[in-house]
Amino acid sequence: MGTICPSFMSRDDYETAISLVREIVKFEQRIEKFILKREQIEFEIFLEQETNQWVVITEMCNIGGCSINYYEFNTEEEALRKAAELTILGEKIICERACSECYLEYIQDVE
Ligand SMILES: [Zn+2]
Repeated sequence: MGTICPSFMSRDDYETAISLVREIVKFEQRIEKFILKREQIEFEIFLEQETNQWVVITEMCNIGGCSINYYEFNTEEEALRKAAELTILGEKIICERACSECYLEYIQDVE
């Protein structure tokens, strides 16, 4: 490559740094694409009225569909970015257990 290597780095470290930066840029571009095509995003995003926060749900209760684990953001853009990032990393919404409230209700119904 015809790039100029800075004096504080070895040529190898410099090449590694450059390729890392390229990977990050590629990842960013994929995130941008996912944000444009929202339907490809695995995660649901919505504005929580009470807190005025944008929420990305990562785990849902399998009885009542309640949110168990989630991220909160001030802006829709940030929430979309997180959802896209998780999607690209191959994460999926977890829906394997009940939240404590639904679980208690379920136990009481069974008895
Ligand atoms: Zn629940």
